[in-house]
Amino acid sequence: MRFYSATTFLFPRHYERRLLSVCFVAVHIPLVAAIVYQAVTGRWETTTLVVLLVATLFGTAAGLASIRALLAPIEEATEMLRAVQSGERISHMPRGGGDLVGRLLEGVAAAANESATRIELLTDEAGRDSLTSLRNRRGFTEVARKLLVHETEAAVAMLDIDHFKQVNDRLGHARGDALLMVFAQRINALLRRSDICARWGGEEFIVLFPDTALEEAAQVMERLRATIAADAELPGTQRPVTFSCGIASLHRYAELDDATRRADEALYVAKQAGRNRVEIARQALPA
Ligand code: GH3
Ligand code: MG
Ligand code: MG
Repeated sequence: MRFYSATTFLFPRHYERRLLSVCFVAVHIPLVAAIVYQAVTGRWETTTLVVLLVATLFGTAAGLASIRALLAPIEEATEMLRAVQSGERISHMPRGGGDLVGRLLEGVAAAANESATRIELLTDEAGRDSLTSLRNRRGFTEVARKLLVHETEAAVAMLDIDHFKQVNDRLGHARGDALLMVFAQRINALLRRSDICARWGGEEFIVLFPDTALEEAAQVMERLRATIAADAELPGTQRPVTFSCGIASLHRYAELDDATRRADEALYVAKQAGRNRVEIARQALPA
């Protein structure tokens, strides 16, 4: 490290140029020594000097080209470190040899991919609800933003379990939690793969139906409501576990908040109308 530090005055921001300069000087030492020797002795041998000069020129060109080529893996490692910083994954794994630079390359590539995997895992965990393993609000919003990039026909449904407080009151909070878990798994399994289901909070869930007309989404929710209401396996109270639902349409991500609010209002209407039903929200007024 001492030589490295001592030579930083040469191209402080360009390690490769410093290396090339050192190589350039080293290759010229025999030529300079021959010129000095002949000058001191006064015996000039022009042929020897010309041969030495040509050999030095070739040596310089070959030395600089080889050093530049040998530095390529380090450049690649530097580029991969930039990828680590921005959490990117290395798709092309470099084939390093067993030497120092090869081990450096493979080590950096492995570290880059490991840190990208950890970032993905942490991001996924931050977007998931720990009780039900469904997405939470944050995870739902992130997916919705990605799915609703283009103008589309979509729908959003708000679900709320009916009289859930009674489950807690009669069976205890732990059984209430167990019911929430089973309920979440059941609705997630019954929905289509393309539908995005998340826990909105408490005993409320939200479903995004991308590329789906309002009527079609309402049919899916109605089928889901009937299946859950008829499901005797759900660990509920004496009465079957049911949910109420409000559903609203949207066309782009910017409308998601408004559609969620309208679906929530429709959910309130469903509760007022006696629960265990799906209510469709009024269409949003054109902007
Ligand atoms: P409604 O039909 O009007 O929706 O009646 P409800 O009893 O379901 O509604 P309410 O909002 O009065 O009660 C919801 C209850 O859900 C209250 C709260 O204690 C319970 N709850 C919210 N989050 C959790 C949870 O994570 N675990 C358990 N066990 N209960 C929860
Ligand atoms: Mg509620
Ligand atoms: Mg409820």
